[in-house]
Amino acid sequence: MRLKLEDIGEQEVRRPIELPAEQIPGLSVLSEEEACFVAPIRGDLRLRRRDTVIELAGEVTSRVRLRCGRCLVPTDEDLDLRFQVTLSAGAPETSDDLEEETELSGDQLDVWMVEGDEIDLLDPLAEQILMVLPTHVVCSAHCKGLCSGCGADLNKDECQCKGEGFPGPFDALKDLKLD
Ligand SMILES: [Zn+2]
Ligand SMILES: [Zn+2]
Repeated sequence: MRLKLEDIGEQEVRRPIELPAEQIPGLSVLSEEEACFVAPIRGDLRLRRRDTVIELAGEVTSRVRLRCGRCLVPTDEDLDLRFQVTLSAGAPETSDDLEEETELSGDQLDVWMVEGDEIDLLDPLAEQILMVLPTHVVCSAHCKGLCSGCGADLNKDECQCKGEGFPGPFDALKDLKLD
């Protein structure tokens, strides 16, 4: 999704987006286990440029499938992302400037450098998506998870390792009868 710098001006340029995640190269760093997109990346990107400074704003949604952190069942989570990044099409800093590391701090690190006369919008977009991607989901707040002894999914199955020598903090409760 390339855009020539000369096509961006002070007047806002709008680019709708609807792409499967596989077509966004920056997202290929994700393994299937980390996240699997089950809906396209869909939304709107807007750009505005003043001299060498380009403001990129975006609103995109998608849906991502991860494994529940407790019971490992595949669990879908909505992504709803709004972002704003500053891109700089200015000449790269000279090496002399880079040595003054104390000056490179704060918001300067958030500036995305554009090389050449084109921007690939998918690169900053991928970075933004990676930043908000959930790393831990639970299928439900009440998920009981897997038994650490027998591996049974305690949401569906009875634990199979009762009394088989896995002393745990709840052992004392086993003999408690409620009636
Ligand atoms: Zn679960
Ligand atoms: Zn068990």
